[in-house]
Amino acid sequence: MVRTIKQLNRISNRTYPSKLCKKEGCKTEFIPTDGRQVYCCSQHRIDSNNDKRKVIDKFERNFTSRVKSNEKILIKIISSPFYIKNGFTHYVFLEHEGYDFETFHFIEYDEETNREIQFCYKHGVYMIDAEKKHFKITIKEKNED
Ligand SMILES: [Zn+2]
Repeated sequence: MVRTIKQLNRISNRTYPSKLCKKEGCKTEFIPTDGRQVYCCSQHRIDSNNDKRKVIDKFERNFTSRVKSNEKILIKIISSPFYIKNGFTHYVFLEHEGYDFETFHFIEYDEETNREIQFCYKHGVYMIDAEKKHFKITIKEKNED
């Protein structure tokens, strides 16, 4: 929520109603000195922010392991005899390997078809035939300056 200056002035002399500390497991009731205060003390604010950081770190570690696994799958598929022979893969192969279509680093669009290419590191995958569920894998060459 964004408070306007006008609103802040209007409530500045107010005594705030008591709140429950948002730190997990604290449950201390306190009277905020500022409408935005959500923790009973600064230590609980710090602790809580550290906990949030840990959650983010964990999320990032999970994300990294998923994109790594995805790229490994793309590398495996692109060097498979089927891919080398046909120049594409089928959805079932990706699915069988456990490819996670929800996880990718970034998206680019194929110049010709405008199809969405999902990249994990430098390996990208995109659908070339929705009906037949054919996918192509592309490798992004890094521009070395
Ligand atoms: Zn607290």
